[in-house]
Amino acid sequence: MATASADAPPGTIVRAQVIPPREYLGVELRKGQVLRLIDVEGKQVPDLVCFNLHDPTEKLSCNNSRLIQKRWLLTTGHVLYSDEGNEMLAIVADTVGTHHASGGCCNEGANYRRYGTRGTRNCRENMALAAAPLGITQKDIPGAFCPFMKVVQYPDGRYEIEEPDSRPGDYLDLQAEMDLFVAISNCPQERNPCNGFNPTPLKVVVYEAAP
Ligand SMILES: [Zn+2]
Repeated sequence: MATASADAPPGTIVRAQVIPPREYLGVELRKGQVLRLIDVEGKQVPDLVCFNLHDPTEKLSCNNSRLIQKRWLLTTGHVLYSDEGNEMLAIVADTVGTHHASGGCCNEGANYRRYGTRGTRNCRENMALAAAPLGITQKDIPGAFCPFMKVVQYPDGRYEIEEPDSRPGDYLDLQAEMDLFVAISNCPQERNPCNGFNPTPLKVVVYEAAP
């Protein structure tokens, strides 16, 4: 169950929808609107990419986001930038603090290399399906930002995916800095701890921030 705070964003709700486990959603955001991603049951990662609504060739760049801010961990006060260095989404609220901005996401090829299985449901395919109205294909999907995803890095260069810290009702608020199309995959990965080995629903709320 979502907590009361997760259901009461500070503004007027213009859209609210639950993405079932393993599914996806495309969302248009006007500049100033806020996208709230709510982890309904906890330990669920929503991978996302975004495109300039008026010129989808401009898209999210996790590389630029890390490079410009000299950070690999992004939270409240930080920004997701485009491949052209423009501000796309600002993180304005965050109840978790652990997110992954390496620019990766689960995909057919990597899942086969890692798990030896073909035809797995994956975030790259999900985000392409979500962005299909823009004429976007899998080849156009940039590296994803992965709210709530927990990746622990070790001094010897290794890293490991661990179960998210997010609890039921935790959320992340992203404010649009330009008109955007956001493609969200409710990550279907169940072969590593990314989603606690148990994909669950994700709630998406769009609200107009109070002036
Ligand atoms: Zn995934």
